[in-house]
Amino acid sequence: MTPLSELAQGQQYPTAALYVVATPIGNVADITLRALHVLGLVDRIAAEDTRNTGQLLARYGISKPLIAVHQHNERAAAQRIVEHLQAGERVAYVSDAGTPGISDPGAKLVDAVREAGLAVIPLPGASALATALSAAGDWVATFSFLGFLPPKAKARAAMLQTLAGHPHAMVFYEAPHRIVETVQALADALGGERRLLIARELTKLHEALHCGTLAEAPTWLAADPNRQRGEFVLVVEGAQQEAAGEHDHDGLLSILLEELTVSSAAKVAAAITGTSRNALYTRALALKKDED
Ligand code: SAM
Repeated sequence: MTPLSELAQGQQYPTAALYVVATPIGNVADITLRALHVLGLVDRIAAEDTRNTGQLLARYGISKPLIAVHQHNERAAAQRIVEHLQAGERVAYVSDAGTPGISDPGAKLVDAVREAGLAVIPLPGASALATALSAAGDWVATFSFLGFLPPKAKARAAMLQTLAGHPHAMVFYEAPHRIVETVQALADALGGERRLLIARELTKLHEALHCGTLAEAPTWLAADPNRQRGEFVLVVEGAQQEAAGEHDHDGLLSILLEELTVSSAAKVAAAITGTSRNALYTRALALKKDED
């Protein structure tokens, strides 16, 4: 078998750099070879939960000094890490599971390191977001990641109201104690007809993916209490867009046509609005002709 150090080559691993390293979201075998190489190479590892990360590292026979960097001390701990980097060290950052910075600490540390003029090097790997999307299907071709919805019913309903017309699929994270009320709130705010993918316990023993509609999801969850346990990603279909009428997107197209060709303006407007590119192309062409 090719040694790890050789497989991980093809990139330099400079000193005075922060390595942002993704870790598994359940199945420990989902650690990457590069992650293992870098975790073995760095001078110290900053972790959201040093006990949890200590256990992960022990599985791979890696032992390093650990620094706790979590939601409540991220700014202060970031300064300590910057000092280690300025002294010429390599430091890795790992969150509890998945990719740091995605509904996890890490972003403030990245800001502090970059503000100090030091390098930030990301190591890709598991994320519940990408894992769920990879098994969703063509209807999530464009999507927005919203993370956790507000826990309070009023704030959650208000936020969902603002998302009702959002034309792209929406990805949410949810915890087991709120899954039932969140799915019901999604159905109440967005209507029952939209598709919903419930991705539960991804990469774990009790992994389950259920793709149905918002209307039938509460019944599916209620049918077996086990379906309400574990960690969840919810992917909801975006709002259906009506075909572009005569004047639907004229304002947007006019602005875009000041800088872009008809074809590019239609492409950008389609990405922004979710409306068919062909319909927007026809409308952009008409606007251009009116102008000429
Ligand atoms: N940074 C992580 C990532 O890259 O996915 C997310 C961390 S966030 C604190 C934890 C949430 O992510 C969970 O509440 C759940 O919504 C989602 N999640 C994490 N692991 C998961 C899994 N194995 N299956 C389904 N959802 C998961």
